[in-house]
Amino acid sequence: MFPPALVILIIAGLLAATAVPVRAVPPLPGLPVGPFAEPPPASERFEWPVAPPRVVLLFDPPPLPWLPGHRGVDLAAGPSAVIRAAGAGTVVYAGVVAGRGVVSVAHRNGLRTTYQPVVAAVAAGDTVRSGTRLGTVQPGHPGCPAAACLHWGLRRGDVYLDPLVLLGLGRVRLLPLTATPP
Ligand SMILES: [Zn+2]
Repeated sequence: MFPPALVILIIAGLLAATAVPVRAVPPLPGLPVGPFAEPPPASERFEWPVAPPRVVLLFDPPPLPWLPGHRGVDLAAGPSAVIRAAGAGTVVYAGVVAGRGVVSVAHRNGLRTTYQPVVAAVAAGDTVRSGTRLGTVQPGHPGCPAAACLHWGLRRGDVYLDPLVLLGLGRVRLLPLTATPP
């Protein structure tokens, strides 16, 4: 048997080892934090733009705007897979940038989702709902390990956000989507 003092030391050591507090991951600087006040109505819910969804590269914003990073998530897709609007809004851009098709949709509260590279089936000014067909994916997104990848982006103003927050899967939460009038 261990002497009682040694047993106490061992127990104290075990308690100390298990009492280490888990440090909460701090929110990203400059982003509002708070839970959704209530679930948004069905017309304002967001969905994956590709089915079935398979994330192959996560959002990795650069620490400074001019540094390299990944300003969206990449979703694997089959060749010419259909790309759908993640949420209701208005198409604000459908065209070609640097040889790649880009579609951009403005949503409520200043949020804007972007989809590339796609062959657009919509035009600027079109009103879309969640799930509206925007076009088909093109191959050629840099670093894509699949036949094709949709680069899905989210911005509010000049700030790039993780589009997975729209699905409740990102690392930060946005302010309630129903907080301000359209
Ligand atoms: Zn990408």
